[in-house]
Amino acid sequence: MSLLNISCKQATYLISKKEQRKIGLFDRLTLRLHLGICSLCRRFEKQTGFIIKQAKHTHTEEKLSEEVKEKIVGSISKL
Ligand SMILES: [Zn+2]
Repeated sequence: MSLLNISCKQATYLISKKEQRKIGLFDRLTLRLHLGICSLCRRFEKQTGFIIKQAKHTHTEEKLSEEVKEKIVGSISKL
């Protein structure tokens, strides 16, 4: 089962990949399993989704959104 047991760092990476629609079925499954047990990453997923939505809505602030996203990934990776 260790194959499905991913770290928060991997999970946040998969979440950003998922937002860019670059995630495979297996990654999707492992991410789902991790989100089932980790509230931190669930919160990160919500925030990322919100940021992506905002970026799509405004179109112009995409660079800033990337920076914000990386900041969030960085802060979670340090935990
Ligand atoms: Zn996690």
